[in-house]
Amino acid sequence: NKQIILRDYVSGFPKESDMALKTSTMRLKVPEGSKGVLVKNLYLSCDPYMRSRMRKPGALSYIDSFTPGSAIIGYGVAKVLDSGHPDFKEGDLIWGMTGWEEYSLIPETEALFKIHYTDVPLSYYTGILGMPGVTAYVGFYEICSPKKGEYVFISAASGAVGQLVGQFAKLMGCYVVGSAGTNEKVDLLKNKFGFDEAFNYKEENNLDAALKRYFPEGIDIYFENVGGKMLDAVLLNMRLHGRIAVCGMISQYNLDQLEGVHNLFSLISKRIRMEGFIIFEYYHLYPKFLDLVWQYIKEGKIVYVEDKAEGLESGPAALIGLYTGSNVGKQVVVVARE
Ligand code: NDP
Repeated sequence: NKQIILRDYVSGFPKESDMALKTSTMRLKVPEGSKGVLVKNLYLSCDPYMRSRMRKPGALSYIDSFTPGSAIIGYGVAKVLDSGHPDFKEGDLIWGMTGWEEYSLIPETEALFKIHYTDVPLSYYTGILGMPGVTAYVGFYEICSPKKGEYVFISAASGAVGQLVGQFAKLMGCYVVGSAGTNEKVDLLKNKFGFDEAFNYKEENNLDAALKRYFPEGIDIYFENVGGKMLDAVLLNMRLHGRIAVCGMISQYNLDQLEGVHNLFSLISKRIRMEGFIIFEYYHLYPKFLDLVWQYIKEGKIVYVEDKAEGLESGPAALIGLYTGSNVGKQVVVVARE
């Protein structure tokens, strides 16, 4: 069984050499009496939060650290080879928490979802039909309280979550602007995902001026994916009774000391609601989300862009690429195609 392991806890910017390929033998059978499932991993998801699991335990994080020497754990799509649980049987397709390895024995099945719609690419269950998809759905519809005609801004807009938030906002009849880190991504936002406007934040030396250019009347909704300087600039441009959904702050994930935010007074002067959320608390909405978005995909109302890295060995480079923006769309690692 080939695995990608974390060598040791990481501080600062992660490197490929913080992870390593390890090969071991494994019995492809669920042990007697276990209620777990044995799966063959097909697609693995690279998600920004995984950086926090590389930190020493106890650091600022909302999730346990990985165990050095053991396989990295993350969301993935897999096929059941053997099962000790009555709800799962050989041949079932699932998505949920699995290991960065060819085969995983998953002892707890609570965090696994069975895949029923197979007439879409299975890799979609790492993205648009999986955790990032339901994050976009909850963040936009539940946290942002959107209304038709409102002005919406999304950072890291071409990524797994952002591209969907923008399309939800367009379907609701909002004016939508996204920021991204390359001109190729800006082009995708405008010409593939249907954003009204988009800009390359790396080419702007004054983010406040850039936002004023696209939002002369201010921003009603900010979908926050990056934090730092962008958040400060947005705070200066929010409208009265605006909403900020704090989904993530990727610009802060590799820093030992978080950057300060200066313009929080806007929360008072503009009566803004700023609310963080973590998707674990909203999985009860998954079936409702899935039916809606699967239908949107079928009807061609929503499109999705993935960036596929081939082979388990490509996992470390793909994962750290999230922090330099080398992914164009949802970053997936293809381990096997069934
Ligand atoms: P993406 O697919 O958007 O990949 C990450 C992107 O972030 C990169 O491609 C890059 O795009 C951008 N980025 C990287 N470093 C920086 C930086 N220093 N400053 C600004 N942008 C940067 O990731 P996801 O869509 O999966 O995740 C987006 C956000 O949502 C993350 O913050 C993540 O942690 C959060 N999240 C939160 C969840 C929750 O439950 N609260 C669940 C899922 C995700 P670019 O080229 O545009 O810079």
